Amino acid sequence: MTFAKLGLSKAITHTLDELGYEKPTPIQTQAIPLILSKKDVLAAAQTGTGKTAAFTLPLLEQLKDGDRADSKQVRALILAPTRELASQIGESVRSYSRGLGLRSQTIFGGVKAFPQINGLQRGADILVATPGRLIDLVKQDAVLFDSLQFLVLDEADRMLDLGFEEALNELLTLLPKSRQTMMFSATYSDAVKTLSALWLNNPEEVAA
Ligand code: AMP
Repeated sequence: MTFAKLGLSKAITHTLDELGYEKPTPIQTQAIPLILSKKDVLAAAQTGTGKTAAFTLPLLEQLKDGDRADSKQVRALILAPTRELASQIGESVRSYSRGLGLRSQTIFGGVKAFPQINGLQRGADILVATPGRLIDLVKQDAVLFDSLQFLVLDEADRMLDLGFEEALNELLTLLPKSRQTMMFSATYSDAVKTLSALWLNNPEEVAA
């Protein structure tokens, strides 16, 4: 299998060549075509399987030719449980989106909100965020979701374990219903299934 056969264009496969990614991992082979075909996806995947690229690459493919985000608007939102994971995803998004002219931003708690609010003022094509800080910034009118097309919940099981259920449910009410949603989780507890029933629309399931 190749990344090109999965439906990714040259602008992205070129970067993957440079990063030394020779072929897609199993979760990438399964998830990328489904996401490109605009399906909601529920994926069981552990860290180390290449899950970050599995959701990021098809998002970039779909975002690269569209209008860029306006002030305070977000086109794709990736939610992660911890600042460490959010930072890692933010770094991956930056490296995979090289040369595409997309703005990405990462926000998490425990640091000053002001620079994050300033950054959001210019809009973000891709926003990586932890739920708590995102809610804070929404309440300060720093983020708007009218343009939101894509939503990813990464490590959904850990977000629930860390007590983010309420923050997530609050966020859900603010997001456009017409979006495409991807949920990744290492485990499928009843709580994860409930979350998936609330957030996803007729999802395709994949596992790696
Ligand atoms: P993740 O599961 O997203 O945390 O990714 C684990 C590691 O695999 C990261 O260091 C990625 O850079 C790397 N990686 C992801 N996809 C590929 C691939 N197709 N080929 C080689 N390395 C990859």
